[in-house]
Amino acid sequence: MSSQPLYLRDKFPALFTDSNLRKLFALLAERNIKILTPVLSPSGFTYPEVEEVLGLTGEAAANFLEKLAAQGILRSRLVDQILRCPYCNSYRISVRMRCPFCNSLNIEKSVLIEHFVCGALRRRTEFFHEGKLICPQCGMELKEINKDYRYAGTWFECHDCNKQSDEPEVRYYCRDCDMEHTMEEILLERLYAYHVPDEIFEALRREHLQITPIASVLAEFGYQVNSPGQLKGKSGVFHVYDIVGVMSANNSRTVAIDVVQSESEVGEQAVINMFAKALDTSPTSTILVAIPKAADTTRNLALIYKITLIEGGSAKEAAEKLREFLK
Ligand SMILES: [Zn+2]
Ligand SMILES: [Zn+2]
Ligand SMILES: [Zn+2]
Repeated sequence: MSSQPLYLRDKFPALFTDSNLRKLFALLAERNIKILTPVLSPSGFTYPEVEEVLGLTGEAAANFLEKLAAQGILRSRLVDQILRCPYCNSYRISVRMRCPFCNSLNIEKSVLIEHFVCGALRRRTEFFHEGKLICPQCGMELKEINKDYRYAGTWFECHDCNKQSDEPEVRYYCRDCDMEHTMEEILLERLYAYHVPDEIFEALRREHLQITPIASVLAEFGYQVNSPGQLKGKSGVFHVYDIVGVMSANNSRTVAIDVVQSESEVGEQAVINMFAKALDTSPTSTILVAIPKAADTTRNLALIYKITLIEGGSAKEAAEKLREFLK
């Protein structure tokens, strides 16, 4: 039952030991958030959960997540692009179009529409009528592009030099440093969303929502806690429990805990699984935590096998009962 978390712990030790990562994934588990999505604002972008937990925004947050993706803890997917000023690094960039002949900003854009039915070829502004496109020549409404009508051309008229052009000079204006940049100069950044792979998400949800509240009770009582933890049996075989607590000071007292959650009630197989391991490893206390409760047969079997059964509607409730038990 514990092979998956153990495998994750071996493969991604940082998930269990790095306090920043633990805090971040605890938050994701609690709120059931599987995807970290960038949110854009005039001052740039942020990943709200990373900002909340680590205080990192923008590039720093992206770098942090990128490292996790490189390790295989997250999977990235391109979701957007963002323009950035090469001079002051601001993201408050807007596009400007200038006259290619005299560099003036004083240009006006016009679009030509062709109405297929009557052959009208006029400026789009002449079709605007109470939020609809009405043909000024035949009076019909234009509904569907490329079926009723098409755009027959776009051009720009300069009110300073009076020349026309269909290709204005495009500039990127930075609202922070007041500079204009060319296509060559402007920086184009890619924005990614980061997805927690299912197997990692499920394991971490279990870790943070079920295991941690219970493991922390053992730590409170002075145990050295490992979760998942291993104990070596008399047979020489190592057995894995969800949580193993060892108190070396007190004549090597060991507590082995498995946590089993079920939709309705935890069946007797959980006790049978634990019994085989406990027989070989003989912990001082063998505890089965059943969430939300155990079946009657499970209770009977636990009694016979001398496995302490702790039932709780939630991990928090079970943790409270474990605290009582350890007192
Ligand atoms: Zn700038
Ligand atoms: Zn001009
Ligand atoms: Zn028409």
